[in-house]
Amino acid sequence: MIKTEEITRYMATEDFIDESAIEEALAGNKNPEPRRIKNILQKSLAIETLNLDETAALLNVQKEDLWDEIFLTAALVKKKVYDNRIVTFAPLYCSNYCVNNCAYCGFKSDNSIERKKLSFDEIREEAKVLAGEIGHKRLVTVYGEHPYSDVNYIAGTLETIYSVKVKTKNGFGQIRRVNVNCAPLSITDLKILKQSGIGTYQVFQETYHHQTYQKLHPASTIKGNYRWRLYCMHRALDAGIDDVGIGVLFGLYDWRFEVMGLVSHAHDLEKCYNGIGPHTVSIPRLEPAMNASCVSETNYKVTDEDFKRLAAVLRLSIPYAGMIITARESPEVRREIIPIGCTQTDASTRIGIGVYSKKYLNQEENRQQFLLGDTRSLDEVIAELARMGYITSFCTAGYRCGRTGDRIMELLRSGKEGEFCKLNAILTFREWLDDFASLQTKIVGEEIIAKEIKEAERRLPLLYPKLIEYYKKIESGQRDIYF
Ligand code: SAM
Ligand code: SF4
Repeated sequence: MIKTEEITRYMATEDFIDESAIEEALAGNKNPEPRRIKNILQKSLAIETLNLDETAALLNVQKEDLWDEIFLTAALVKKKVYDNRIVTFAPLYCSNYCVNNCAYCGFKSDNSIERKKLSFDEIREEAKVLAGEIGHKRLVTVYGEHPYSDVNYIAGTLETIYSVKVKTKNGFGQIRRVNVNCAPLSITDLKILKQSGIGTYQVFQETYHHQTYQKLHPASTIKGNYRWRLYCMHRALDAGIDDVGIGVLFGLYDWRFEVMGLVSHAHDLEKCYNGIGPHTVSIPRLEPAMNASCVSETNYKVTDEDFKRLAAVLRLSIPYAGMIITARESPEVRREIIPIGCTQTDASTRIGIGVYSKKYLNQEENRQQFLLGDTRSLDEVIAELARMGYITSFCTAGYRCGRTGDRIMELLRSGKEGEFCKLNAILTFREWLDDFASLQTKIVGEEIIAKEIKEAERRLPLLYPKLIEYYKKIESGQRDIYF
């Protein structure tokens, strides 16, 4: 149910997506001087959010050598805030019943696909495979919008997942953070999710362009209300959910406009919530889906080169935010994009309903929302990331220790968050290597962990003895120890 008062209370006369301001900034910052670009890059390096003119200037760069400098600086900013840590997760599709009719989505109500909502027992089976066999510690649960998957169901799925504990080779496996990707909710409902231990609340605006939004989401559906969606993160923060994730479905409208939309969203959140901006920004690209002719007919398809550019500009414009690239993308694209901006990626991904526990595997095709570009296992992805120099972090300590909202923003902006995170990355990666890694992955994993321990000894001498004490406990089978 849309509560109009929970939209209007946040607005002046118009919403914060000022299309003429965005168009003017894009038109007024054409052919930026190299010197100006260099100054903007310095501002990003100081981990300051860029304004719309600065973002537009980056988006308007034409010269290849300046783009190279942008990519390089994006990588430096990422390193400064997140170092060489990368977080992995898996999506868990819980229900594909949906009352909406989004033109691009396989779950739209017009599609006569087989619909399924997992029972809590079935959710438990899925969680057992994800936590006990694959080795995930983080999930994002995904739901269509429907009375069958209302907030009580969502809360029930979270409670069920958190209750699962599976014996592993050397200890036990458990999902420790569940992020939620569902419809925009009211403040009352969001408070229920807060109580259930939600990690990040994710809702993508899909497109910030009002007219395109109206074209793709019929006005007769709930999702047809642009502003109910636009202000759901404001409601989440008011409901006490500190970590909010925004995103755009790239390919529906001009990518430069959409980047400006995301940055405007970050600005409004920062303005209204004492500097708290988005915890994550997701950058899904439109993929083919059943009866979604808008996907093949779009005039706004984002090329791989432009995808790289938009990821880099977002990294620079909202420098503190985590950025999520998903298995919609091919392994090649992920390899290219992760170094310049992304901090989280999914692996072992399946997007059918009930597919992890394989009960419904034969019906997977029929229940898929869109097609995947990368179906490699978590083990394969982790090995590749390790070869690229990344340590996979399964750390979920942040939100359990209250490092969320303005506290996490402060730590991220000052680069201090990394100290705890690196130590927790070492500890959780040790757990994962001992419980789940194949022999080959173990070999590359051990190299990276040895290098990180050495670095911790040099950079954090005061915390180092504690790290070694915890590390030994984990080696002997204890689990879930963190700073
Ligand atoms: N039903 C909720 C909603 O729409 O917000 C949450 C679940 S929906 C399945 C999650 C996201 O999938 C959507 O926000 C959209 O960005 C993405 N999606 C839908 N169709 C897609 C497609 N054809 N290609 C890539 N992503 C798609
Ligand atoms: Fe339903 Fe979400 Fe798909 Fe739209 S994107 S049809 S709301 S599941």
